[in-house]
Amino acid sequence: MNAPTTVAPKQKAAIAGRLAGKIALVTGAAGNLGGEIVRHYLREGATVVFTGRSEGRIADAMKAALADTGADASRASTVVMDGADPASVRAGAAEVFARYGRLDILVNNAGSAGPKQPLERLPLNKGDLTALQAEGSTDTETVADAARNILGVAWNMVRACAPLMGAGGSIINVSTIFSRTEYYARTAYVVPKAAMNALSRELALELGDRGIRVNLLFPGPIESQRIRSVFAAMDTLRGDASGTTADHFQGIMSLKRSTGDAKPEKCLPTPADIASTCVFLGSDDSAAFNGHDFEVTHGMAVPKESRTTFQSRPSRRSIDGGGQAILVAAGDQVEEAVAIARVHADAGAEVLLGFTAASGVKAAKAKLTDLPQGQKIEIVRFDRADHGMMDDALDGWSKHNLPISGAVILPTFSAGHFEGSLVDASDTAVDSFVDAELGGAIALARTLSRYWRRQDGLGRDPRFVFLSNGSDGAGDTWANFLRAAIEQLVRVWRDESAVDVAHGRRQHLEWGHQIIRYQNSEPENLPFTAGQLVRILLKERKIRQVNLYLPESIADATGARRAMVGFSENITGLHLGKVALITGGSAGIGGQVGRLLALAGAKVMLVARRESELAAMRARIVGELEDVGFAGVERRVQTLADIDVADFASLRRAVDETVRRFGRIDYLINNAGISGAEEMVVDMDPAAWQRTLDANMISNFALMHMVVPMMKKQGSGYILNVSSYFGGEKYLA
Ligand code: NAP
Repeated sequence: MNAPTTVAPKQKAAIAGRLAGKIALVTGAAGNLGGEIVRHYLREGATVVFTGRSEGRIADAMKAALADTGADASRASTVVMDGADPASVRAGAAEVFARYGRLDILVNNAGSAGPKQPLERLPLNKGDLTALQAEGSTDTETVADAARNILGVAWNMVRACAPLMGAGGSIINVSTIFSRTEYYARTAYVVPKAAMNALSRELALELGDRGIRVNLLFPGPIESQRIRSVFAAMDTLRGDASGTTADHFQGIMSLKRSTGDAKPEKCLPTPADIASTCVFLGSDDSAAFNGHDFEVTHGMAVPKESRTTFQSRPSRRSIDGGGQAILVAAGDQVEEAVAIARVHADAGAEVLLGFTAASGVKAAKAKLTDLPQGQKIEIVRFDRADHGMMDDALDGWSKHNLPISGAVILPTFSAGHFEGSLVDASDTAVDSFVDAELGGAIALARTLSRYWRRQDGLGRDPRFVFLSNGSDGAGDTWANFLRAAIEQLVRVWRDESAVDVAHGRRQHLEWGHQIIRYQNSEPENLPFTAGQLVRILLKERKIRQVNLYLPESIADATGARRAMVGFSENITGLHLGKVALITGGSAGIGGQVGRLLALAGAKVMLVARRESELAAMRARIVGELEDVGFAGVERRVQTLADIDVADFASLRRAVDETVRRFGRIDYLINNAGISGAEEMVVDMDPAAWQRTLDANMISNFALMHMVVPMMKKQGSGYILNVSSYFGGEKYLA
């Protein structure tokens, strides 16, 4: 950058005020809040650069502010910049540098309102906008315009202005509290603002290193004629009685405030409240604050994030996807999308699997050649930049299949596509993030919301889940950025749907979540995620929180080192509280019966002759139980050695010891047996015959004699005698 042609005004000694000597740039300086901010800044001694898109507007605003404050004209100047256009912003920043040689404070206040339309009517392109205008709408922006005029402005300004700022510099990003609340028919405004919240927090980390602080200001509804008309318009769009929206938001403010001599009452914060917060954040009084939120809302109770973390493994018990169809809308993540589609197909659902590009379709087809008989996964192109294509894909599917009742939406690009810091992001990366990720998510939401309105035959309320990528291995900055925007998209989508259902404009309530998985880098990440997805999409369960995080360690959070799969999952708890005595429990059938009964929750006593074999079997069972998260397994699996079924005294010991340790016997598994004498009957030694009979038959009766009275007393009991198929084969010894 060139050296400045004009040196900063040397007025610090003469000018008093908390911002004396500071050069401040205020975007949207001719606007409602901007006008108040520049006045406060001038009064506090700052030199203020007024920016906006129209020279006439900002020149007038500057003249009026100077007249109102009596500040010297040398402390104000204008620079025209269209914040949505990075080239215009860079040129403007160069002008500021040329004029002052540095920048101390950047107030990112500019922001447009976006189209005021419910999700399904949002204008994605000029054609949509013209159609809305023909119906009488006063909207002037498409979704992409709004994203640029809200998120783009702040991002472009920081990228261009941070190099002008030195240690002690302060950036103030003006968001809105409505980026964290429901806000009917304002998706195009609140979703980019929510992204800006995450941007701001990330910039605080990136620029904090250089001594520049970045803080975030959340205005609540600010007292003005404008906010009254915004709320009135919202009441009309919602179909609510006049005053509903204003009452709702005032209702969640905790502060009653007195103006003048009046009694304290619920009222709205004023533009001066915003401006004085900007003074504090621009001044050295706030030198210790970086990455903080300043909510100027009269204490509106709005959580920072709606989140919870999965604490248990996704059991597939009782999940039946039969009669349901699921859309898996992927970007370029073939591997993950195919795995997710398979899990849904395994659960019995039909799947429509979409990819942005033809290459994704081709790669997925190559991977899905081995689909089991009876499963259905249809693969199509589903490009969120082409809403006609998305409509055609959904309608084409629905002509011959069950209507889609659930959707999984992956990001447009896989992990690692966007990389590096946000402050140094290229114009291409900014464009691609704003259009393909943010715009793409909103376009897809609009498509689905329209589709679900068209469906008469949906058997149930539809569900949608946005899914983050896995970790990019480099801090997941961009994923976290997108996470903030999607959270808000899910929130407003849910809310609009609920309002429309309540007013009879929509038949089915759409309910959704976002699953966040990048903070977990375990190999089990994908199957765990897919299992949770199936549960959310195919069950009637409804979790209130929007963001559902994978735990950093699935084993720690769930208390289970690995997932239960298939059969063992289905027997969990089946025999809880029961006690089983199993003879010949050190190996083979006895060992497996013991293992499964233990997995099913029973306490088991394994008895056999050899200590070492019993110990090995016990260790195996205990390890498996611990892996899947059972508690107290050491106590619940016991063994007793030197129990020979041909020795009845030892059987008595087995029964007594089981009762001593567990207090009862519910199941007697007469499993032990010996192959015994193997001669032809005529050749058999009577002693060997006796031993064979004792071990294989009499021992069973002996044990039954011992436990049956106990079972009778308990009023329940179960005896399983393990015979042999060959027992019925008369020609065999
Ligand atoms: P406003 O009166 O409409 O002013 C917004 C300003 O943003 C306009 O002066 C406009 O300037 C500028 N702007 C829009 N797009 C721009 C672009 N591409 N490049 C440069 N400037 C652009 O709004 P406000 O009520 O003062 O709000 C100021 C900020 O506070 C906004 O970020 C808003 O979201 C936030 N906020 C306001 C309220 C409220 O109740 N007022 C509540 C919450 C949050 P030009 O047209 O001159 O270019």
